[in-house]
Formats: sequence, C-alpha cells, structure tokens
Amino acid sequence: MGLEIHVLGTSSARPTNIRQVSGSLMSCDEGIAVVDAGEGFQSRFSTQRKRMKTYESYHLKSSRVAVLCLTHGHLDHTWGVLPWLQSMALDNRNQPLLIIGPTSSEVVESLLANDTLPEETPHSDLSLQFQFWHKLGGTSENLGYEVRWVLGDVAGERWLEFDTNTGNVIELPNQPQPQGWRNNRIDALATAHGIPSCAWKLSTKEKPGKFDRMRAAELGLDDEQRAQLAAGNDILHNETTLLARQFRGEDFQSISAVISGDTTEMAPGITQLSGCNLLIHEATFLNDWTKHAEDYMHSTAAGAARTAIKCNAQHLVLTHYGARIKVPDESVDEAQEVLANTDIQITAARDGDRLLVGNDGSTTHLHWRDDGWTR
Ligand SMILES: [Zn+2]
Ligand SMILES: [Zn+2]
Repeated sequence: MGLEIHVLGTSSARPTNIRQVSGSLMSCDEGIAVVDAGEGFQSRFSTQRKRMKTYESYHLKSSRVAVLCLTHGHLDHTWGVLPWLQSMALDNRNQPLLIIGPTSSEVVESLLANDTLPEETPHSDLSLQFQFWHKLGGTSENLGYEVRWVLGDVAGERWLEFDTNTGNVIELPNQPQPQGWRNNRIDALATAHGIPSCAWKLSTKEKPGKFDRMRAAELGLDDEQRAQLAAGNDILHNETTLLARQFRGEDFQSISAVISGDTTEMAPGITQLSGCNLLIHEATFLNDWTKHAEDYMHSTAAGAARTAIKCNAQHLVLTHYGARIKVPDESVDEAQEVLANTDIQITAARDGDRLLVGNDGSTTHLHWRDDGWTR
C-alpha cells in the first residue's frame, strides 16, 4: 500500500488565519506515526478524519496511531500533545503508544545519574516537558492506556525511558520501534536547530515478491519442489531446470519518507541518507531572509532544495512557512531554481494536503480543496 502522509499544519511558530502550526501523520500498513503535535493538533486530526470519511473510502482511525515522534521541544510542535493524549483516554483508547523525541547528551547523562539537569538546559528541552506532562497526568496509570516515554541523544545514539512511577530512567539498547511493527520502521535523524532536534524517517522494509503458486500448480510440482523454489533454489523438473527467480514477482523495494522538523539546511542526519523517496522539509524563509535562516537555525526554500539534492530525494515538499509568506508560490520558485538541473519533483504543502508514496517510490501530492482532494 505504500506510505501516506497527511500534513495538518504548515505554519511556523504561530497559527495564521490560513495555516496552523506543525503536526503530521505518516501512515503505513502497520499503523500511524504522528510527527509533532502543536497547539490544536487534536482538532485538526479530527477534522481530517471527517474529511477522509466524507471524501475517501477509508477511515483514519486514531486507534491506529502507534507512535508520536517529536522533532524538538518548541511549543509550536508540542503544545497539543497532552490535550490529545487526554482526549484519546476519554475515547477509551487501549492500544499502547510510544512517545519519542530528542534531547542533549548532557541531559541524558544527568538523568541517568539522577542529577539535577544542567543549568544551561533550555526551557524548551523535551525532558522538562515530559516531566511536567507526567505531573499533569500524562502517565499510563492516569490515561488508562500504556504510554512509553522515550528520550534520546540522537547523534550519540543513546536512548532512555522514563519510569513515570518513580521518575527514574533506564537506558535502552537502541531506539525503540512501535510495538508490533515488523515491516516498517521509524528512525530519528540528527538535525541542527539550536536546541536538540531531529527529523523522522518512516520506511518500509525490503521484501521478496510473491511466490507464483499458479505456475507451480500448472507444472504439477510437489510440495518439496515448491518449497525449494520458494526458498530461492533452482530445481530440475522433467529434465528441465526451473529457475527460482521465475517463480517470484518483483521484489518490493524499501520506500521512505522523511519529515525534517525545524532545522538549518543540510542537516547531518538527512544529508547522510543515500536516498529517500519523499522529503518534507521546512522552508521558513525566502532567499531575502537567508541571514535570518542562519541566525535562527531554520531553512530557506532554496536550502531545502540543496538538502534534497544532497540526500538524493525524489520528491521535495515544502512546509513550515514564516508569517511573511502569504502563499508559497515564491518558495517553490526559489527551490525550483536550485533544482533546475535535477529530476527532483517539488511541491508546496498546504494544511490538509496528502502525499501518497507508491510501492514504486513515486509521490502523488493531493491538494486539499475544501470539498475533497485534487492532484
Ligand atoms: Zn517550528
Ligand atoms: Zn523550532
């Protein structure tokens, strides 16, 4: 089925009358990863659910959400978390939820040592928000469904989990995955935004194509012969060699989508990718505010394009526009200029848009138009 991304907010820092703050859904066959949940996230999610019910054949159930991936602790990305968790409790959710986000190596060290946090810890650090949310009822016990709270030093690959009963943390061997996921995975990618931050990648695992049972039946192969072919071994049948690969459909390649969060261009974790099918990248500023982008550790649309080239993205989608950007047409033009000699597709997201990444890796951008989606 590929991947489906819903972009539920494209504004940076604060809502405008046409745009809401950050929050996206990344859906795969095993569940949904929510990436960021700024102010009002739960309302936007329920609006999108209603739209899907009205205009599409399938339901966007919040019970399918398996993980909340946070990109960083700025409130335009996190202020909607706790109200949404509480609403799911009121809806009698009983599926487990993993909540996972970045912090600094210093915070990881002091939490593990049970020390007070370093003085220079910014007030937007997720460790502080996690601890406040726990105090305000964001625990499995209070919510009535299991919530795992995990923080990590992304670049240092150290992950820890809170025990909300004792307030202690334990170190995990690696970045955890949503419960029960076998064919898909999420990965944090280090970015640069002045406070601990990361991008999130959702990818499907490669798997071999389907075994051609019809063909095996037509040839009258026995169980042993079928098992050999299915295992990839060629066999001899009626004095002809049957090649295992001729009994397999085409392999399913891994496909992936990345959401950058807030970051400078050329974030180390994103540029080190050898490729991605879809890159949804912040583009807070236009070229005339390049200095601002550098000073505040954000990207321009052109910077997003340079990043897309570096990580071999097939399709770049712009989001997270500053308040000066009324419509993102100019953003697309400036990114397009950088992408002129490449095959990279470029589109601009608006609130409510959907992006479908097919099994062949190509992206279809569906634009929300008040009465359904159009290409
Ligand atoms: Zn932001
Ligand atoms: Zn930010």
